[in-house]
Amino acid sequence: MSANHFGSTNESFQNTNGTELELEEKNILCIDCNKDFVWSIGEQTFYRDKGLKNPPKRCKECKQAKNERLAAIAAAQAAGVKQRIEVAVFCARCSAHTTVPFYPSQGRPVYCRSCFLEMNPNLIQINDN
Ligand SMILES: [Zn+2]
Ligand SMILES: [Zn+2]
Repeated sequence: MSANHFGSTNESFQNTNGTELELEEKNILCIDCNKDFVWSIGEQTFYRDKGLKNPPKRCKECKQAKNERLAAIAAAQAAGVKQRIEVAVFCARCSAHTTVPFYPSQGRPVYCRSCFLEMNPNLIQINDN
């Protein structure tokens, strides 16, 4: 009778962290400012609790800026006022920080004034105000 039983070990190793186990901080490239930002575990948990499947596309600052822009645009539309919008962007050509008077579509390159004019020399008589 040479039965080698190790029957007295623990049944299984329960991880006390439970469901948080697979979460780890992620770096995401912000679509607005093209900088990496950290999607923290806390925020991931928040997203999961909210049932959101897609990770955020913007860093906190850009998300806030976008929300403020959208709120301002919505408020202006509701009031029937035509409001000049000014959106802070980074030029897709020279990376200069600039503003444009429209809300750029996602994934569309946006250029600063000088790059834009260089690429569109016909438009050089744009009125400056
Ligand atoms: Zn950003
Ligand atoms: Zn530029």
